[in-house]
Amino acid sequence: MLGAIEAGGTKFVCAVGDEFGNITDVIQIPTTIPDETMTEVINFFKKYSLDAMGIGSFGPIDVNMESPTYGYITSTPKTAWKNYPLVQAIKDAFSVPVGFNTDVNAAALAEATLGAAKGLDSCLYITIGTGIGAGAIVHGKLLQGLSHPEMGHILVPRHPNDKYEGGCPYHRDCLEGLAAGPGIEERWGDKGVNLVEREEVWDLEGYYIAQALIQYILILSPKRIILGGGVMNQKQVFSYIYKYLDELMNQYVNFPDLSSYIVSPVLGNRAGITGSLLLAYQALQDESRS
Ligand code: ADP
Ligand code: ZN
Repeated sequence: MLGAIEAGGTKFVCAVGDEFGNITDVIQIPTTIPDETMTEVINFFKKYSLDAMGIGSFGPIDVNMESPTYGYITSTPKTAWKNYPLVQAIKDAFSVPVGFNTDVNAAALAEATLGAAKGLDSCLYITIGTGIGAGAIVHGKLLQGLSHPEMGHILVPRHPNDKYEGGCPYHRDCLEGLAAGPGIEERWGDKGVNLVEREEVWDLEGYYIAQALIQYILILSPKRIILGGGVMNQKQVFSYIYKYLDELMNQYVNFPDLSSYIVSPVLGNRAGITGSLLLAYQALQDESRS
């Protein structure tokens, strides 16, 4: 049996299940301080005999296995969790292999294995919500270098008519600063969900997402792109993305049909916890190989 934790800034989702994404028990625990939250997390899993555990966590986190702070949540604005050794806390409680990655990488792994890119050895999963994050599958594996990619913070050319300064505390008008949910709200004075009728909102949103996608496509050449997160509930954004992407690409690269190339997730809000189960399964396999 596999254990999975989707560690988020507002709640921890804990589940037990298998590598096919079947979940037999699940619980949600509020994210308060580590002492409280982790005690409840550990109590939940104590009922089960686990073979491995997977964690998809909010970040930034240290995923470099060579690093002395591997498995830590690092520079999060949630100060109680800053420099918290999440993997070690789980290892101390349950002596099992632990897989660890970002929440978005966990979701990417789930969509690639069981969801919208099932059967492909390459894809890009992007979530556009409170922030913007992306996970890439390359040669069947999550792309990782020095650390996990931070594709939400790339710089994109501004729309000439867009006067909004951008909401990223680090870069102001990076992609996340211009196109994540809070940026939409600040620019237009209302939450995205209340702006459905305002075509210019979604046109501009599609413009910025297309600016980012062309960079990702030119660098990674993913076989499919999956766009999730709260903002992408506005399905009309897809047609603007297709329009601007076509213009930007100007027939330089031959795309598959855009409506089957750039798609919605299949697993929806189960992607993160399902991916965490898959991280557990990977950790178990890595352990049995070594
Ligand atoms: P999180 O990123 O915090 O995990 P979400 O992916 O739901 O959660 O993203 C929340 C952001 O998405 C908020 O800024 C919210 O305004 C925006 N959002 C959520 N639902 C919608 C919607 N249906 N239409 C437009 N924007 C939405
Ligand atoms: Zn930024």
